[in-house]
Amino acid sequence: MSIAATTDKSLLRTAVSDIAEVMAARPDRGTVASYIPELATVDPARFGLCVVDADGEVFMGGDAEVPFSIQSISKVFTLTLALGMVGDRLWKRVGREPSGSAFNSIVQLEFEKGVPRNPFINAGAIATTDVILSGHKPKEALGEILRFMQFLADDQTIHIDREVAASEQRTGFRNAALANYMKSFGIIENPVEYTLGVYFHHCALAMSCRQLAMAGRFLAYKGRNPSTGLFVVKPERARRINSLMMMCGHYDGSGEFAYRVGLPGKSGVGGGILAIVPGQASIAVWSPGLDASGNSHLGRIALEALATRMGWSVFG
Ligand code: GLU
Repeated sequence: MSIAATTDKSLLRTAVSDIAEVMAARPDRGTVASYIPELATVDPARFGLCVVDADGEVFMGGDAEVPFSIQSISKVFTLTLALGMVGDRLWKRVGREPSGSAFNSIVQLEFEKGVPRNPFINAGAIATTDVILSGHKPKEALGEILRFMQFLADDQTIHIDREVAASEQRTGFRNAALANYMKSFGIIENPVEYTLGVYFHHCALAMSCRQLAMAGRFLAYKGRNPSTGLFVVKPERARRINSLMMMCGHYDGSGEFAYRVGLPGKSGVGGGILAIVPGQASIAVWSPGLDASGNSHLGRIALEALATRMGWSVFG
């Protein structure tokens, strides 16, 4: 890997502030998601960027401390939790292949007899959430997810935006279709409304770029949280979660993200992206406007600029 052993902090500091300034001024901002009505109210002019390096030093630009709806980025953390609970048995219910289709595709699920392609498309994340829910009440499962995020980010103020969750609960007909379809194949164990309730609520976690970059550190440092020195997951599992982010983290835009940015990343329709530079940094970026695949338009461009300036890529 071409990643340098140590990060040039002054280069990084300048890059983060330059990129935040340039992105804030760009006129092409993509389109804010509106299929979840509450998300449509977010100001497209927002832009935030935060990098946490191996020493725990934090580099921030723009609106890096403003909470936003992390949406599908939560799927990285629910995958981590589900793997912790059932290990490789998860892969009986969810695949590990890139999808090449939209995040909420129904047609693919029919072809594959109710087994979702990967844990990051909606169907796969709903099935993963169902694994976390089994044996618990929805409130307990949600509490577990929330506490996990607070623990990883070392920040008790992280919360779930109940208005966003309620907004999606009222309008999430496609996700209900996916969940019911999977239920007919026995992929979903719990009552569909319970599983969806937990799924909508973890998608509605409100976090800032700073909190998100902090929460992602274990993926950058071989499964270890560098501030406590404790392992969240084994190195092998961290590597594997990163590989899934690389192959599947941007839905049918995953190839383009890998080509342009060259780092494992996971996007959400709230406009956030979590990206990992193994051994070097955990990065979160936020710009609410999306591209045609439902990924942050300027978020991806900003990460491409940052990776280029820092010489960061897992491809050498
Ligand atoms: N809660 C969103 C949904 O299920 C997440 C999608 C995303 O962030 O890509 O539609």
